[in-house]
Amino acid sequence: MGVKDTVVPPNTDCHHFILEDDSANLEKPYGSIFLSIPTVLDSSLAPEGHHILHIFTTSCIENWKGLSLKDYEEKKELVANKIISRLENKLFPGLKSSIVLKESSIVLKEVGTPKTHRRFLAQDNGTYGPIPHSIPKVLLGMPFNTTAIDGLYCVGDSCFPGQGVIAVAFSGIMCAHRVTADIVVQFHLQLSENSSISLVQLERQF
Ligand SMILES: Cc1cc2nc3c(=O)[nH]c(=O)nc-3n(C[C@H](O)[C@H](O)[C@H](O)COP(=O)(O)OP(=O)(O)OC[C@H]3O[C@@H](n4cnc5c(N)ncnc54)[C@H](O)[C@@H]3O)c2cc1C
Repeated sequence: MGVKDTVVPPNTDCHHFILEDDSANLEKPYGSIFLSIPTVLDSSLAPEGHHILHIFTTSCIENWKGLSLKDYEEKKELVANKIISRLENKLFPGLKSSIVLKESSIVLKEVGTPKTHRRFLAQDNGTYGPIPHSIPKVLLGMPFNTTAIDGLYCVGDSCFPGQGVIAVAFSGIMCAHRVTADIVVQFHLQLSENSSISLVQLERQF
């Protein structure tokens, strides 16, 4: 969401985690809320006088299937408004009530669901974020960097160890090591097969 900066108190932290009741609700749909406000670190990310609130919660794609377009849009609004109310209660008084007063603090609101992630990011079942610990095998079932096609590698958050910037950086490093190792192996294989060829000639092939 884009909001007027008057609703975000000075010295607000960038990252927040909201769990109103007990940890039994931690992994339940909509049980917890994650919030990041990147503009407290870099105000140039939003127009002057505004903040970006990046808010997300847990939800499965099954909860969004089989709805008509109208029902889907209505459900998105309903869920988003409930989350905004919870943020208003816990962190930002006036965030939503100001909408009622026709003086909205919210100048931009975009709501995404697992279906949105599936459609626009090609994520399997619209997944995003950490993998629930109840299904750890998913992690090991993920592809590593090599493919069935020689010389074709894959990298990024569809590969081990999964989603998130840190995991993706790790996947990139692993892939670079894999490519380097494969090149070195090929290099030595050719060296032993072509003992007459000079090292300089061989290096030019790689
Ligand atoms: C809303 C949201 C919030 C997130 N927040 C966080 C967070 O706070 N912390 C965190 O660690 N992770 C976060 N993530 C997850 C993290 O952003 C991703 O896991 C990570 O960016 C994936 O990196 P990637 O390189 O695999 O894919 P991407 O970053 O999606 O990069 C793929 C690139 O390929 C390009 N591309 C696609 N198809 C083609 C094509 N045919 N030809 C050429 N280019 C193409 C795309 O345009 C894109 O630039 C978030 C994800 C989302 C969706």
